[in-house]
Amino acid sequence: MTSALNKAVSQAEVSRRPVAVLRGLPASDGAGVKLTRVIGQPKLPDLDPFLMLDEFGSDKGADYIGGFPDHPHRGFETVTYMLAGRMRHGDNQGNVGLLRPGSVQWMTAGRGIVHSEMPEQEEGLMQGFQLWVNLPAKDKMCQPRYQDIDPEKIPVVERADGIRVKVLAGSFDGVTGPVSAVATEPLYLDIVLPKGAALEVAVPAEHNAFAYPFEGNARIGAGAEARKVSRGEIAVLSLGGTVRFAAEDGPARLILVAGRPLREPVAKYGPFVMNTADEIRQAIADYQAGRFV
Ligand code: FE
Repeated sequence: MTSALNKAVSQAEVSRRPVAVLRGLPASDGAGVKLTRVIGQPKLPDLDPFLMLDEFGSDKGADYIGGFPDHPHRGFETVTYMLAGRMRHGDNQGNVGLLRPGSVQWMTAGRGIVHSEMPEQEEGLMQGFQLWVNLPAKDKMCQPRYQDIDPEKIPVVERADGIRVKVLAGSFDGVTGPVSAVATEPLYLDIVLPKGAALEVAVPAEHNAFAYPFEGNARIGAGAEARKVSRGEIAVLSLGGTVRFAAEDGPARLILVAGRPLREPVAKYGPFVMNTADEIRQAIADYQAGRFV
């Protein structure tokens, strides 16, 4: 027992380092929306509890105008963080919402919804992320739930040195984000570092975590284990209680995301993510029979 306790204490003191750094792949989804698949690609099929991370960003209407017409989800959560542009969301249960710049939609699909995500603009920049977060077996068939969070509801920690941290989920510096009651206890931060700034962030020690610079480059990790991670590369982080970021060659902006791993079997078929093949067959049968209501 003593050694287990010692291990937990030391783990929390360890600074995380990148254990893998890789680039997303160009992909297309929905009705021809161009995006970059960062998690959910051959080199990084998943990172428990995260099943997928897509970055979208284009100022050409043709790259996004088709949107994501009606499609189902069961067994996990989709998280959309808009940076620029507007998307209209609607589902088969009458829920509607508008995603606008800076807003977050944390959707718990649970036992099933059929929804559409369509651009509400024909031109101009559309930019953001969609993350898929798995649900534990006990929650996969829960009632669907939406957390539609307006930009004004997302706290920002601003420091004198120009560092800005938006807390979408989890806590930073005693400030807690608005997303609640998510089984994987996620941390989701949007971090802006001016050139020359460095920041150490506390991360729950047993969570899996990644960082993704989407403007500029960041040096990630502490001391000799630090690595330069360029814009558009994902750094999968080792376990540990903190992670250090530095912007050296210019300003940088990145997302840091962490979640408690579920360590459950994953049976995945397109928009259905369950624990067993039987549950996938059931999901397909339920969807085809119109039971996602
Ligand atoms: Fe969807």
